[in-house]
Amino acid sequence: MLIRPDLLTGIRGIDRAAGTVTVEAGTPLKRLNVALAREGLSLTNMGDIMEQTVAGATSTGTHGTGRDSASTSAQIRALELVTADSSLLTCSAEENAEVFAAARLGLGALGVVTAITFAVEPLFLLRAREEPMTFDRVTADFEALHAENEHFEFYWFPHTGNCNTKRNNRSAGPAAPPGRISGWVEDELLSNGAFQVACSVGRAVPAAIPAIARLSSRALSARTYTDIPYKVFTSPRRVRFMEMEYAVAREAAVEALREVKALVERSPLRVSFPVEVRTAPADDITLSTASGRDTAYIAVHLYRGTPYQAYFTAVERIMTAHGGRPHWGKVHTRDAAYLAEAYPRFAEFTAVRDRLDPQRLFTNGYLRRILGD
Ligand SMILES: Cc1cc2nc3c(=O)[nH]c(=O)nc-3n(C[C@H](O)[C@H](O)[C@H](O)COP(=O)(O)OP(=O)(O)OC[C@H]3O[C@@H](n4cnc5c(N)ncnc54)[C@H](O)[C@@H]3O)c2cc1C
Repeated sequence: MLIRPDLLTGIRGIDRAAGTVTVEAGTPLKRLNVALAREGLSLTNMGDIMEQTVAGATSTGTHGTGRDSASTSAQIRALELVTADSSLLTCSAEENAEVFAAARLGLGALGVVTAITFAVEPLFLLRAREEPMTFDRVTADFEALHAENEHFEFYWFPHTGNCNTKRNNRSAGPAAPPGRISGWVEDELLSNGAFQVACSVGRAVPAAIPAIARLSSRALSARTYTDIPYKVFTSPRRVRFMEMEYAVAREAAVEALREVKALVERSPLRVSFPVEVRTAPADDITLSTASGRDTAYIAVHLYRGTPYQAYFTAVERIMTAHGGRPHWGKVHTRDAAYLAEAYPRFAEFTAVRDRLDPQRLFTNGYLRRILGD
């Protein structure tokens, strides 16, 4: 049985004194962001898109990039779920703390999340600086770029030595959003329309991919703009893709990425999609990909309909050699035996699950694979 919380939406309440908002679990992040902005409030950090529901995003550990601020799950202050015995359980750092540690990223295994309370702060402005940089420079300066910016990320274009970087930092203003036409050219025409055409040509003629990559990696130019957070963090993603993402200890990221580059260079693989690199500070959520360690994320993508197994298998071998933890909501092949090693608090999560759902009302093939039964 698949539960779709599409009608369980809306804001239950805002507590300005506590700096929190409580939302129904099926509320799309887009709706939450717009409603918060209208109230002069914002989440602190976000992923790349805002189509997801708050429960879906947090249950799989959705994250953006941040030096000090972590995933959407880490911004949860309290959570309400219906458990297998049909009782309503609320949890926070003060109440049912061991459930709270697990259920902020519960994988759907602990019960049905019905409402989430997030920390919010007064609406602020972010200054975004997007700038092409060489692979050698980004990797040489990765630690400094991470340390000097509140939100640093970059994309490397396989078959090239080119990257696009993005640095977001708080700004006193004034707001200076991208112009309507230049914003459309960058976000719709180049990042979606032209990229879609490039991917389709690459899928039909794989041999053309390196030349296309050299072109598309130069298509986006440097730009700076200042806007409210969700408009800076998120953007439309219309080109469909398969994705695998691994979290490694931040100090291992550059080495792991260089290994991916060497892999692409020495193999017949043709990769049309950029590799995305982001960071997160260590958090205290049992099965968060950043649980207990400062983290960098390396995400590989391929255009839909392109055979992805050879590439993803080879990259997964590199990431697992670095003790990588797969994103729970993206493609991976790990099982409970591996994950129990990768997560020091794995047994803590399964103990909470055993207690809340001993009969395994909430399970499926994926959960059996990753949690062991
Ligand atoms: C274009 C695109 C961009 C993305 N960008 C990012 C990104 O920047 N960063 C990132 O980390 N991820 C990213 N993702 C991954 C995405 O955030 C996750 O796949 C997310 O889970 C999708 O949310 P959803 O609402 O569609 O979830 P669903 O598919 O509906 O749910 C995912 C899982 O969450 C659990 N779940 C959902 N609702 C409940 C509930 N009410 N109670 C209990 N469990 C529940 C279930 O286990 C379910 O299988 C991206 C995905 C796409 C397609």
